[in-house]
Amino acid sequence: MALLIKNGRVLDPTTGLDDYIDVLVEDGKIRALSKGIEPAAQTGEAGITVIDATGLLILPGLIDMHTHLREPGHEYKETIKTGSQAGAAGGFTSLVCMANTNPPNDTASVTEYILEKARKDACINIFPVGALTKGLQGESLTEIGDLKEAGVVALSDDGYSVKNASVMRRGLEYARNFALPVICHCEDRDLSAHGVIHEGVTSAYLGLRGIPSIAEDILVARDIALSEWTRHPVHIAHVSTAGSVRIIREAKSRGIFITAETAPHYFTLTEEAVSTFDTSTKVNPPLRSAKDVEAIKEGLRDGTIDVIASDHAPHSSLEKDVEYDDAAFGIIGLETSLPLTLSLVAQNILSLKQAAEKLTCNPARVLNINKGSLTIGSDADITIVDLNAEYAVDINTFKSKSKNSPFHRWRLKGRARYTIVSGKIAFQAAS
Ligand SMILES: [Zn+2]
Repeated sequence: MALLIKNGRVLDPTTGLDDYIDVLVEDGKIRALSKGIEPAAQTGEAGITVIDATGLLILPGLIDMHTHLREPGHEYKETIKTGSQAGAAGGFTSLVCMANTNPPNDTASVTEYILEKARKDACINIFPVGALTKGLQGESLTEIGDLKEAGVVALSDDGYSVKNASVMRRGLEYARNFALPVICHCEDRDLSAHGVIHEGVTSAYLGLRGIPSIAEDILVARDIALSEWTRHPVHIAHVSTAGSVRIIREAKSRGIFITAETAPHYFTLTEEAVSTFDTSTKVNPPLRSAKDVEAIKEGLRDGTIDVIASDHAPHSSLEKDVEYDDAAFGIIGLETSLPLTLSLVAQNILSLKQAAEKLTCNPARVLNINKGSLTIGSDADITIVDLNAEYAVDINTFKSKSKNSPFHRWRLKGRARYTIVSGKIAFQAAS
């Protein structure tokens, strides 16, 4: 089966390609990139599907390197199937799912279960992350070699930080032996204990307990120091504070090989969003001050922050339709990450190429996976974007099982028109 995408603007940051050309896909791979490819000349026995991409942008398939799919264990919030459908609708061709399932992904058998389920149920690629410590308890390391063999692409105790610096050090040393990147959730749990929102003006005004930004900064500094010590790269997850941005920038300027991500809510919303007491604004790390948001944007602009990831964290009404204090932390993001990222292009903070890098080749590079490029011979994972589509976000139309988005009814611009995985259309927007 062949696929021909005609008349679109093709942007591939890995090669610098940015031109109006046609893309021919055969047997799940990119076969040709050039002007004026004619379907007639290509029609084999199996026929050819032609997509007219006039006015549309063609990108390497988007990669979300921070997703919570909730399977196994919390299938009422999200499954591998519904999460993959939400990802496809958001333009993602690959999702990287965190280990804090139930049971956690801390053994090869759980990794194999996730990959088997993904083969059966998922419409896009699923790459699991293995736990760094058993049960995400931060005490003893998992069997990292077994996890790697089973197919994990990174290690992380995301949801928790590894409290014991000695365990973290050993974890990095073992991860280095297996060439697996370590993704760090940076939170000092003594400093953040009992907090529900950012510690600042809004927490004082609303009388809610605060999580100080230093709770993040301290662990970012520690994990970077351990990364330098062990000579193994770490990737800092969901950066939310000006302090983290400054520490990461300084470390990178000294040539330490680290990478970092933020999530769209950290460059879109401030702590003020909490004043409605809408529990869909409750997230960990919390929405920060306007100064932090400005620092995140600057960090994205100057390359301190390499990746934009959704940190898609589905919760049902059971966990969210409760008092703010009692609500679970988490925001879903698979179906809003692309337009919120594109809003940075509209604000002249990122170029379109930079925005594309942070959603495609940069996460691929961090994870060392063979994705995120449109070069000839590569997997035909392609996202076709309508940059001009304007619409109101409606959580009731989401493919995700959960609805905990603070962007309900927001007017956004830009959406995936087609999501193509290995040459097959995984998602097609109504029009
Ligand atoms: Zn986390």
